Amino acid sequence: MKIRIARKSAAVLMISLLLYLVSPALPAGAAEGPPGMVRIGLYWGDNALSSANLLNYVGGGYRFGYFDSNRSFVELASTGEKAITMLKDWSMYLSGGKYYDSKPSSSYETIGCYHIRLNTAYDTYAEAAAAAQSYSGGFAAYHSGKFYVCAGSYASYDEACADLSARGLDGTAMTASQYCVTVVATGTTKILFQFDGGKDRSLGVMPIAGEGEKAQTWFKGYKYYGGFQYARLTGENLTVVNFIDIDDYIKGVLPYEMNPEWPLEALKAQAVAARTYTAASLDGKHKSYGFDLCPEPDCQTYRGTNGAAELSDRAVDETAGIYMTYEGRYAQTYYHSSDGGATENCENVFNEAIPYLRGKLDPYERNVETKHDSWSYTYTAKDITGILQLKGYKCGNIVAVTPVYTELGNIYSLTFLDDKGVSWTFSKYSAGSILYSQTYGKYTYSQRFTIRAENGDADVSSVYVNSAANQIEDTSGLYAIGSGGIAVPIGGLGKYSVVTASGTETISVSGSGKAIYADSYVVSGSGWGHNVGMSQYGAKAMAEMGYGYADILNFYFTGVQIG
Ligand SMILES: [Zn+2]
Repeated sequence: MKIRIARKSAAVLMISLLLYLVSPALPAGAAEGPPGMVRIGLYWGDNALSSANLLNYVGGGYRFGYFDSNRSFVELASTGEKAITMLKDWSMYLSGGKYYDSKPSSSYETIGCYHIRLNTAYDTYAEAAAAAQSYSGGFAAYHSGKFYVCAGSYASYDEACADLSARGLDGTAMTASQYCVTVVATGTTKILFQFDGGKDRSLGVMPIAGEGEKAQTWFKGYKYYGGFQYARLTGENLTVVNFIDIDDYIKGVLPYEMNPEWPLEALKAQAVAARTYTAASLDGKHKSYGFDLCPEPDCQTYRGTNGAAELSDRAVDETAGIYMTYEGRYAQTYYHSSDGGATENCENVFNEAIPYLRGKLDPYERNVETKHDSWSYTYTAKDITGILQLKGYKCGNIVAVTPVYTELGNIYSLTFLDDKGVSWTFSKYSAGSILYSQTYGKYTYSQRFTIRAENGDADVSSVYVNSAANQIEDTSGLYAIGSGGIAVPIGGLGKYSVVTASGTETISVSGSGKAIYADSYVVSGSGWGHNVGMSQYGAKAMAEMGYGYADILNFYFTGVQIG
């Protein structure tokens, strides 16, 4: 039996709810062979860009083309320039080295969206690029499946017409479609290439690799493996998507999901979880923007290769191609920071029961420091009233609390009774989070906590041990002898071991379903997160004890296949 001594946590962790969010409930995808390329949105929606630069970090130059429906890159053209900028084909203004889509107040140069297009069409970029050399301001353009030579860029159609007749060229003044993207050498008005594939085919840019090394490219302060797509979905700004090999992507995710200095086997368990989550998320909630996952915690945090570390990279390489499945489908890889002693059945926290997300007592996690080993907050009845009202519930003064616990001793529901006789019930995940309040500086960090009257004396009369059913109604006022021979109060409800005449037996402690009338309540708990699936600290503990990543996953995900 582990005795936990509740202590006040001094730190007020503003971000502590985040861990509730990192494991979204997505439907498991069918396992139709592992994905190669995944699409990660970098800028989209209101954050779409009028200009987007790229700078080679490893490698030199770029190939231009598009990604086909199989996510394969189709090359059309290339450049040896190391610093390029994609612009929406618009009247763009260069000022102080930056591009603007409206006139800046300082002096500027214009890159207009009107051009002279020569009448000859070519089948290849090479032919068009060679021909373009003969014209001042000439560049090769891909317009609806053909290559052309364009010359000049003008802010208006009239300007383009005037220059066309002045130069006496065999061409037309024109502007491309609203989906067109122009590539320039960064910091200049020099057009390198123009791509107009219409609504359905967007510009793809694939950095050219170095000698024996994968290409890496700087984009807005982050380094990325893989290529990029620039789509003008609504004919407006550029939606920027990173097309990347799934394992290179996982290398950019892992250091943000688990400390990359943790043991290798724990990192490998997390790598398989992240890879499986990714595979199950293809064509998911961001599909309408043309990508699979965003780089934020609602999907998986991803910042290119900036956070990559040797051990986390190794964990990805050593589990390459390995997924977690259940009955032939990718498993839903819920995880949380720490379970505080027991995980929980999925249906007791979220909605539906999932066969491999079963709660169990965790004998491993206690062997490591989790930073949330135990926590305790005192709530007056007035505090509880205030928190509920702050969260929008129009309750009266709370006079009683009825907790219901799961078989594993985690919270299942909390019912608050107010002085008008109205009950307010919060179940599952809501039971775990309703008393979390930054305003009050009082927190429930996980599903694993108990609530009791602060003045335990009020409950003493109801404490009893029922030898027939091995049930203790309440542990207030009960003490156990800890490892140092010191008597400490038993801090929670759940299963305990007791020494009896016939040896050690497990007894259940239950305060479930009993209304507690008090002016003040003590909430004591352990763990951080939603308690479903894998405990990351538990994985760390298992790895330190010599277990492999498959052992870890098999413990936290009941009956899954790993391979
Ligand atoms: Zn997302």
